[in-house]
Amino acid sequence: MPLKEKIYWHDTVKMPTGEILNDLPSSIDLAVIGSGIPGLASARQLARHGISVIVLEAETIGGGASSRNGGMALTGLKLDAEVVAARYGVDLTRQLFDDSIASLNTVEQIITQEQIDCGFARTGHLLLANKPAHYTALQHEAEWYAQHFNHPTRLVPRSELSSEIGSEVYYGGLVDETSAGLNPAQYVAGLAQAAERAGVKLYSSTRLNQIEKVSSGFKLKTSRGELIAGRVLVATGGYTGAATPQFQRRIIPIGSYIIATRPVPEDLARQLIPHNRMVFDYKHFLNYYRFSKDQRMVFGGRAAFFPETSSTIRTSARILRDEMVQIFPQLKDCEVEYAWGGTLDFPFDQMPHTGQLDGIYYTLGFAGHGVALGTHLGVRMADAIIAGTVGELPYNAYPFPNAPLGLYNGKPWFLPLIGLWHRILDWLY
Ligand SMILES: Cc1cc2nc3c(=O)[nH]c(=O)nc-3n(C[C@H](O)[C@H](O)[C@H](O)COP(=O)(O)OP(=O)(O)OC[C@H]3O[C@@H](n4cnc5c(N)ncnc54)[C@H](O)[C@@H]3O)c2cc1C
Repeated sequence: MPLKEKIYWHDTVKMPTGEILNDLPSSIDLAVIGSGIPGLASARQLARHGISVIVLEAETIGGGASSRNGGMALTGLKLDAEVVAARYGVDLTRQLFDDSIASLNTVEQIITQEQIDCGFARTGHLLLANKPAHYTALQHEAEWYAQHFNHPTRLVPRSELSSEIGSEVYYGGLVDETSAGLNPAQYVAGLAQAAERAGVKLYSSTRLNQIEKVSSGFKLKTSRGELIAGRVLVATGGYTGAATPQFQRRIIPIGSYIIATRPVPEDLARQLIPHNRMVFDYKHFLNYYRFSKDQRMVFGGRAAFFPETSSTIRTSARILRDEMVQIFPQLKDCEVEYAWGGTLDFPFDQMPHTGQLDGIYYTLGFAGHGVALGTHLGVRMADAIIAGTVGELPYNAYPFPNAPLGLYNGKPWFLPLIGLWHRILDWLY
């Protein structure tokens, strides 16, 4: 069977189309730019509170990272708690990690309220040590969670790891039962429908090209005409572009790639991941994997750092298959059916950012942790806009940095260097 360069999840749901033919309104209370998870979660929440909201989407509704990801709704941030605490102190770290843990309840509540059929299941996550030193780091992380966040996690030493994973390559792991898995395309399609039911108008194929401050708010120049928005919320993730240069300078677009095998027999799937957890490892060039509802191994990684093209997808598919078979020799005869890529939004500090800059609201910088946290911060941002308390969100307590020395204007010339640096770090630590 030839490899399909296609997003597997998109074959499991009809993605929403949004308004393509209707004209844009001439004015609106609030315009959300970008129809991914945070944009749609905000739009829905704002509309439920009586605010008239539109979502402008350059491509297709939910078609960015939000429907291409691994579908892992995770606790925690990109960085370890200890690293965050060393930078910003224990109190702020506690607020941020509490939010990440609360984000799972927000996702579950929305799915239940809106009856989104996306296979949400609290099967937990398993973080694996690729080296003995990683297991020591996981021990610290577990202590932090227990001591500072009152959040239980469970360490699994190498001798007991076969109860969690059918692979010999790891040195131990950490289980967090709070995390969950879902089908991301079904989730984001359900969020879009929920936003529409709340009164939001979604405009696909409508790219924001320029924002101009005017007395009544902002003049938005789009690929389908102009409109005035009283307020604007930017949620453009890794696809943030020249229309918002102040955000483009702060976000590095980094590619991440996934393959999905043909379905495997149920007993093999349970041998490889007995509790059906969301699994990822501790490397900088990390791998993440899980089974889909129809028992495909969905295996992702940062095989190439550049955003997706047909060539990076094909190269990544080969690299990912080799890594998968190295971890699970049991899959050596299992055909890969799908391969695709998506773009992550990495801020320079690898921290999530939600606030206001030049009068424009933003929710950006999830660094591969946006399924649950993106939903939660979308809702929190909407509530804060309504209450006039955006400045009080804990995400304002630390800066949203530009590139060091201003050496970046949106063209990530340094990606090969970051890739090389990560390989060196993986070799050293
Ligand atoms: C391959 C991959 C795997 C991942 N796996 C996971 C995972 O398992 N768990 C997890 O928590 N996170 C994961 N992530 C990250 C997660 O998908 C994102 O954090 C989350 O979807 C962010 O949503 P977003 O709305 O910010 O970005 P997106 O979903 O990318 O949406 C941004 C949208 O903005 C639109 N846009 C951009 N510019 C404009 C403009 N000028 N005008 C109008 N629209 C515009 C884009 O077209 C796009 O649709 C993964 C990401 C990728 C790429």
